[in-house]
This record gives sequence, C-alpha cells and structure tokens, in this order.
Amino acid sequence: MAEQTSPAAYDPQKVEAKWQKRWNDARVFESDVDPAKPKYYCLEMLPYPSGTLHMGHMRNYTIGDVVARVKRMCGFNVLHPMGWDAFGLPAENAAIKNHTHPQTWTNSNIAEFQRTLRRFGFSYDWRREISTCDPEYYKWNQWFFLRMLERGIAYKKKSRVNWCPKCCTVLANEQVVNGFCWRHEDTLVETREIEQWFLRTTAYSDQLLDDLTISRVPHPSFLRVGVLTLVLLLLRRNPQHFKPAPKQQRPRTQKRARRKLSSKIRAIYVIEPRE
Ligand SMILES: [Zn+2]
Repeated sequence: MAEQTSPAAYDPQKVEAKWQKRWNDARVFESDVDPAKPKYYCLEMLPYPSGTLHMGHMRNYTIGDVVARVKRMCGFNVLHPMGWDAFGLPAENAAIKNHTHPQTWTNSNIAEFQRTLRRFGFSYDWRREISTCDPEYYKWNQWFFLRMLERGIAYKKKSRVNWCPKCCTVLANEQVVNGFCWRHEDTLVETREIEQWFLRTTAYSDQLLDDLTISRVPHPSFLRVGVLTLVLLLLRRNPQHFKPAPKQQRPRTQKRARRKLSSKIRAIYVIEPRE
C-alpha cells in the first residue's frame, strides 16, 4: 500500500484567528440598507447573561450562523444581530448569590459572552449589539407598555401562579418539573394568588388567524385536514399509541390557545410515542 502523507494538523488558534481578522477587516458581516439585494433577517434567541456560555449556546448559535452565511452566499442582504436578554430576576438572583451588584455581574458576563462569541467567528454585525438592561433600550419597552396601557391591552388581574420561594419569582408551567422548580430541583413550587399584569393578546386572535392566510403557514383548514390525516394514520398503525393526555397537566394558556385555533389540533398533544 502506498504511503499516505497526512495533511498538516488543523491549528484552530492560527487558522481561525487569521480568517476572523480578515472578515473583521473587510467588514463582511456588516449589513446596511441595500435595495438591490433581497433582505434576510436571521435572529436567534438572545442569551441571558446570568452565567457564562455553555455548549448548548454553541450548538444553537452555530445553526443560526450557518443559515446566515448560506443566505449571504446566496446573495441576500443578511441582517444577523446579537444582544443580551439581561433584564430580570435570574440576573439579580445570580448577583445576590455571587455577592456583587447586578450591573457589575451582568456586564462582566456580557463581556465574557462577547469575547467567546467573537472567538467562535460567528457572523454577527456587532455594530447592532443591544442589551435589554441598557436604559437606551428599555425606555422603548416602557414606551410600548404605556401605549398598551392607554389602549386597555395591558391590565391587572388576580391570578393563581406557580411561585418558587427560592427564585422569588413566578414560573411558567414549563419551568415546573414534577412539582419542583427547574432551577432548584429540591424546591417545591407553591401556588399563589397574586395580582399581576396581563396583555390582552386574545384581542388579536382573529386578526392572527386572518393573517395566516397571507403568510406561508398553511391555512388552519389545511392544517386541520393534515393533522386529522396524521392522527388517523397513526391510529391505524398503532392504536395503543393514542391515549388522552391527563387533563391536569395541560397548561391553562395552551388550553385557551388551542380552543381558539382548532379542536382537531388538540389531537397533536395526545399522541405519545411509546416503545
Ligand atoms: Zn427556583
């Protein structure tokens, strides 16, 4: 057998740093208004900088980066921004735990997040970085909230909520795991009745359904037929896989949203794949 010469070992420190500098110097990821090109907006969920990056972040942001790069190579004017979802109790609780001021804690995490994401060479337009704890940003949240308040879309109501006594915050149904907090696995979640703010999103449900007809999402009637076919196929193949989901496990908000859309769609939730 002929002897094969192995290619030079991949040296990420050398190769990646070289190309990242080249991209940076050429400003290839900066996007400006260009009517000659079709637009493409690639937005991934902004990370919470209450800790540091982990491999889950890397996987998530790599997927978005691949999409942005492919679209750019296909001739789109791609807007691919990054920022920090940095305003909230998780950041404050982390700061308390680490005996620092939330501002110091959050900003140092942001600096570390940014250093790591830059080192990965993700194709962000860093000029457009935002931080939700920056007053220049959240003044607009406040502005929107006041407009919603004026129009009666934001309102206060007493409601039963999931409460974690360690987080000192309300948890979504998805953040309650077998009755315990998702962050504090030894802490039972309490049910409390407290007054809180609501947004009247149901005022837009008809408009939302109407808009579905002009988007690429199939019209609910097609969806209904599709889901029904799927359910019938599954039933025919594996009748034992079809069982009603326990009622108490269905989150209230989801129930309401499902009722609004279609009774057939509910069937999706009760198909449980079992070996
Ligand atoms: Zn908790």
